[in-house]
Order: sequence, then structure tokens, then C-alpha cells
Amino acid sequence: DTFHSFGISKPILDALHGLGYTTPTEVQAKVIPHALAKKDLVVKSQTGSGKTASFGIPLVELLDWEENKPQALILTPTRELAAQVKEDITNIGRFKRIKATALFGKQRFDRQKLELQQKSHFVVGTPGRVLDHIEKGTFPLERLEYLVIDEADEMLNMGFIKQVSAILEELPKERVNMLFSATMTEDVTALSDTIMNAPLHVEI
Ligand code: AMP
Repeated sequence: DTFHSFGISKPILDALHGLGYTTPTEVQAKVIPHALAKKDLVVKSQTGSGKTASFGIPLVELLDWEENKPQALILTPTRELAAQVKEDITNIGRFKRIKATALFGKQRFDRQKLELQQKSHFVVGTPGRVLDHIEKGTFPLERLEYLVIDEADEMLNMGFIKQVSAILEELPKERVNMLFSATMTEDVTALSDTIMNAPLHVEI
């Protein structure tokens, strides 16, 4: 497999080349074609497998640059992971000039609000602060089409189920869902069952 064979466009292939991503990792080879086809996916894979790019590459490919409101939401259990995911996706999308906003605590709410009012193709954040913006009406959801729950097992271990459920209630129902988890606990399966209808399961 090559990234080229997945039908990825040149600006993204160029960015991947610049990052030194020459060959897709196993999770990328298994996820990217289905994600590009807008299938709901449940993916069991460890960090270090290249999972961020496995959703980052298809999302960057699918996002409409012309649309100013957020089209993709990525939920992560920690601030550190949110910052990392934002950086990775921004790098993948640099030649498409993809803009990302990170939402997490310990950062000024009004600055984040301002960023959300400007062009922001995707939002990556922790559940508490994301919900805060949704409840205050500072996160426009009308154009949201893609949801990624990253490190779902960690998210639930950290007790974020209430916030995640509250966020899910507010999102447009017509959307594409991806869930990533290193372990498939009962809780993770229950969460994925509430979000998805007959998803494709990928195990690395
Ligand atoms: P992740 O599992 O997303 O945390 O990624 C682990 C590391 O692998 C990160 O440092 C990525 O930059 C790197 N990486 C992801 N995809 C590839 C690839 N196709 N080729 C080489 N390195 C990659």
C-alpha cells in the first residue's frame, strides 16, 4: 500500500512526504480507505501505531476548505493529547491551509471563543471544555460532520462519560463517527453502541 493508492490528493501527499511518512502503517492502511468512504469505524489500536494520522489524513482530505465553521470534532482525554493531535493534523493539512482550534482547560476561554469565530475546520479538545463552549453557544455545531473519540478507554477511565454523552446529544445526528481505543472494555463497547449503527471493526 501507498498513500497515493488511497487516492489522497497532492497537497496532502506533499505534506506526508515532508513529515517523512513514506509508507502507511498497519492502522493507516486499514482505516484510511474506509474513513474516506465515510464509514463509521471502531478501531482497537495502541498509541505509537500511527493512529492519529489514520484519522487525520482522511479528515484533512474530506474537509471543505471553503467552509468556515467546524466540520470535525476530535475528543481526547488529556490536554497533552489534544495539543499533539492538533499539531499532527495541522502538519498534515499545511498545504491545504487547514485550521484547527484546540479547546482545553487552563487556557483562556475568550481566546478560544475568538478562534472558533474565525475559520476553524476542526476542533480538538477535552470533553469538559468542549462542553463548556457548546453550552455557552460559542462552538457552532451546524456544520459538524465528523466525530472522533480518541483513546476512548482513557476517556472513560478518567470519568468523562457524562460530558461525552452531553456533547453527543448536541451534535448533528447526520455525521460520521470514529472511535479509537487501546482496549475494548465493556464501557467502551457500550459507548460505541450508543454512537454508532453497525460500524466497521478494525483491530490491529
Ligand atoms: P501515533 O500512534 O499517532 O501517536 O503516532 C506515532 C508516531 O508515528 C508519531 O510520531 C507519528 O509522527 C509517526 N508516524 C505516523 N504515521 C507514520 C508513517 N506512515 N510513517 C512514519 N511515521 C509515522
